[in-house]
Amino acid sequence: MTTLQALRGTRDILPDEIAYWQLVETTARDILTRANYQEIRTPIFEQTELFQRGIGEATDVVGKEMYSFSDRGDRSLTLRPEGTAGVVRAYIEHNLFAAGGVQRLWYTGPMFRYERPQAGRQRQFHQIGLELLGTDAPRADAEVIALASDILQALGLKNLHLAINSVGQGDDRDRYRQALIDYFSPYQDEIDADSRDRLSRNPLRILDSKDERTQAIAQNAPSILDYLSDDSKRHFDRVCALLEQLSIPYDLNPRLVRGLDYYTHTAFEIQSDDLGAQATVCGGGRYDGLVEQLGGKPTPAVGWAIGLERLILLLQQLRDSPNPHPDYYVVSRGEQAEAQALCLTQQLRQANLAVELDLSGSAFGKQFKRASRSGAKACLVLGDAEAAEGTINLKCLESGEQESLKQSELLEVLKKKGKRQ
Ligand code: ATP
Ligand code: MG
Repeated sequence: MTTLQALRGTRDILPDEIAYWQLVETTARDILTRANYQEIRTPIFEQTELFQRGIGEATDVVGKEMYSFSDRGDRSLTLRPEGTAGVVRAYIEHNLFAAGGVQRLWYTGPMFRYERPQAGRQRQFHQIGLELLGTDAPRADAEVIALASDILQALGLKNLHLAINSVGQGDDRDRYRQALIDYFSPYQDEIDADSRDRLSRNPLRILDSKDERTQAIAQNAPSILDYLSDDSKRHFDRVCALLEQLSIPYDLNPRLVRGLDYYTHTAFEIQSDDLGAQATVCGGGRYDGLVEQLGGKPTPAVGWAIGLERLILLLQQLRDSPNPHPDYYVVSRGEQAEAQALCLTQQLRQANLAVELDLSGSAFGKQFKRASRSGAKACLVLGDAEAAEGTINLKCLESGEQESLKQSELLEVLKKKGKRQ
């Protein structure tokens, strides 16, 4: 029989690693909740058409990376490759705009793209993202960037850079598209095959090519900043000025275009120096046309998504696992003692202490070794003698000091000592 294994590009997140994930999730949730963002959970699969219409046929994500399949009713479904399209569909479907004004939403969960797996790139990966819908104010762009920056800073990450650009809108984009077609056409035979393919369909995406030769040619391509209308320029200048007032450093990168078609105006990425080739931790921007494109009323919006695998890789370089230690470790031996130990452990847990109970019934020496490894500060010891007397020993694992306590007073005493720091 073949051994069953997790599929290529997917992985198990094991208990050793999970504390990092929980730290990221808690940090993001706290920061976003304080900023009045509400969590939204949308389905993991959707009609394929949602992504085709939302993300754009000419993008890599839709053209090459989607996990699409027919279900038993012959409907074409797709495992979501990103979060925004589903959130916007839900926003339209449930009239979330009827609540009036601005809607602040965030989400987290797995996303699926058929890509070549490598460090920081998987077929099932996870994102935390947010969407701020219903305002075209430059302050909204600045707010969402500031929140991404707050989350990454709260996690203690260093060596991150914010790169920002405007991809304009409507006419500016059309004129720029034409300028790129004019610029790249003479290089048709030198650029990579994908880029050649994009030349007529989606020339902006050539700027995003990872091919070295194409990148070198793209160095001298026209800059979108020279094609922005006065309105687009005003919006972008304002966003940049606000970032300065927020003391958020940024680099202007006129070649930054994002992988998804729906972006307008502001596009940005946060990259790390410590990740090698897959350096982008957070990508986002404004997408004023998407709600209308998916059948809603015209609604400006801006958002981002953070790739959690890459974030966790960075955290692992930075610190040991934030796995919590128990406050107390309970060792016991003998039938009566073991039963009492279980009951006392439960009593302490119900009083909000973190208590690990050794279930082995092995010799005290072995149990003490495990107690030390657990990281608990103190051990609670119950043998036949203590069980018969209704007492329990509290042993400090650092100093080895012991004191005998009445079981009936244990909870009170431990509460006074407080939780392990
Ligand atoms: P890339 O250029 O790295 O492929 P992208 O432009 O396709 O990124 P987005 O769609 O903007 O990425 O997604 C936002 C973030 O999600 C990325 O910056 C990255 O951190 C993460 N991400 C995207 N695809 C993957 C993947 N296949 N595996 C792991 N993380 C991913
Ligand atoms: Mg990609």
